[in-house]
Amino acid sequence: MMGDDLYQEVILDHARRPRNKGCMCDSTHCAQGYNPLCGDEVKVCVNVSDGMLSCIRFDGHGCAISTASASLMTEAVDGKSVDEALALSREVLDLVTGKRANAEGLGKLVVLEGVARFPSRVKCAALAWHALEAALHGESDLVTSE
Ligand code: ZN
Repeated sequence: MMGDDLYQEVILDHARRPRNKGCMCDSTHCAQGYNPLCGDEVKVCVNVSDGMLSCIRFDGHGCAISTASASLMTEAVDGKSVDEALALSREVLDLVTGKRANAEGLGKLVVLEGVARFPSRVKCAALAWHALEAALHGESDLVTSE
């Protein structure tokens, strides 16, 4: 069992050095999210071809949790099918909202588990995933993590 300190470390690492940040390659699906409670803004862009995700990027600015969650998300869903990505997103959203008791099978995303204990941070962690879902559903309107 990993401790909270390690979780914290992974989140801070992704917040300081976000992976796949900066929308630059050809994307077929994009959506923007905004969390008014914290001021987090995130744009998620992804290329979907033959039902598979590739070249996923995010951009924007926000707090450490929102940035880390977006960064972890890009690593977690790259190369997955649309169905797999949406299923994973559901599981992560259940995890951060406390609807799911454990992070079994979620790999590195386990670090987001602790967010459920901080209600004010839940929307920060959920933002990128809501934006991903909106992008995959072809909704280009701004989504808010309400
Ligand atoms: Zn935030």
